[in-house]
Amino acid sequence: MLTTGPRGTKDILPDLSSHWRYIESIARDICNRSVYQEIRTPIFEHTELFLRGIGETTDIVEKEMYTFIDRGKRSITLRPENTAAVVRSYLEHKLYADLQPSKLYYIGPMFRYDRPQAGRYRQFHQFGVEAIGAKGPVIDAEIISLAVLFFRKLGLNELMLYINSVGCPKCRPVYRTQLKDFFHEKLSFLCEDCQSRFERNPMRILDCKNDKCAEISNNAPHMVESLCEDCSTHFSQLKQLLTAAQIDYIINPRLVRGLDYYTKTAFEIQYPPLGAQSAVCGGGRYDGLVAECGGQPTPGIGFAIGLERVLLALEKQKLLPEVNTAIDVFVAPLIGAAQAMAFGLLVKLREQGVTCDMDYMERSLKAQMKYANKYPAKYVALIGEDEIAQGKVMFKNMATGEQQLTDSKDIIRMIKEGMEK
Ligand code: AMP
Repeated sequence: MLTTGPRGTKDILPDLSSHWRYIESIARDICNRSVYQEIRTPIFEHTELFLRGIGETTDIVEKEMYTFIDRGKRSITLRPENTAAVVRSYLEHKLYADLQPSKLYYIGPMFRYDRPQAGRYRQFHQFGVEAIGAKGPVIDAEIISLAVLFFRKLGLNELMLYINSVGCPKCRPVYRTQLKDFFHEKLSFLCEDCQSRFERNPMRILDCKNDKCAEISNNAPHMVESLCEDCSTHFSQLKQLLTAAQIDYIINPRLVRGLDYYTKTAFEIQYPPLGAQSAVCGGGRYDGLVAECGGQPTPGIGFAIGLERVLLALEKQKLLPEVNTAIDVFVAPLIGAAQAMAFGLLVKLREQGVTCDMDYMERSLKAQMKYANKYPAKYVALIGEDEIAQGKVMFKNMATGEQQLTDSKDIIRMIKEGMEK
């Protein structure tokens, strides 16, 4: 028990953390260039925020939240996603008073009591982007383009972008009635979950993963055919914008978000080589969410990308960069008495911005040279009896094998010269 982490969690060990930094740096770079600013919200929030902000009829809220009562008897939930928290923060800190739209991004862990399997964990990480305050389709296209750019920059090309429109509170009730009429006589063939969705949230039947439900849903009416003029124009313009940016898409009428505050654009990016858990990005417009959380009606749109799945995809395609463990200098005290001088040099080098390490284990000369080659180190600074006596260091260039007795203050200059070559 004490030597195993909780089910559905993963340690990111040192040899993998550089891969994480790599994908995070690509995400940050794209956001910086597109003028999206980072927001860091707490990993726990009042449970109420998620009940409102995700919706009580969703799987996340019904089955997957990590909720507990804290010592002050408040109901607290580890965030299962971050849009609601970003909206909460937007309202709490009056970000709407700044230039609009607020263009924000986050990277961090999320928590869902999911059934763990490859690509599905209980603690996982999302890179997400939210643009709050703009209602036109250009921002929808920009948000989609950021996700596409992220995958392209990583070299993942076999992506499928699915888009749909889920309408708005004006046109959706008509569609909902059509949908209920359609499913009414097929109700007994639907799975148990869908039978309860029929009354509470019939649009969610459309994205049920059960084979039978999916087969029945195939012939269901499509939301895009019932859109009001505003939603229909928005959707057509979005398609034009994506085409102008050479972003290929497929319209998927079964891509839905059944809650009232989700409006218009819904999209998903799949990476089919991942198999069962191939959804790498989900996003959409949420024009009713800010009001649902207590603010003035304000439009918004965003996406979340699952970073574990991105890593799996990169591993599969061998697209992860080689890990660079090289250092500039390995400081090698050859006798116990050399340790103080070695340590003094180490700290001085670090102060000057040199990447360096030393032997802490009183290894033999041979073992230390072997160790230095493992990084590999460009130089080794050897300090033995003679060097202590002369107050100098035997500085060895590992590529050429040349070595010379050097004053420690000359070392920096030599390293810099070596770098320029
Ligand atoms: P969602 O917030 O459910 O739309 O999820 C957005 C993205 O997060 C998905 O496309 C996945 O890539 C990722 N994701 C969602 N749930 C999990 C999970 N339990 N484990 C790993 N990744 C997940």
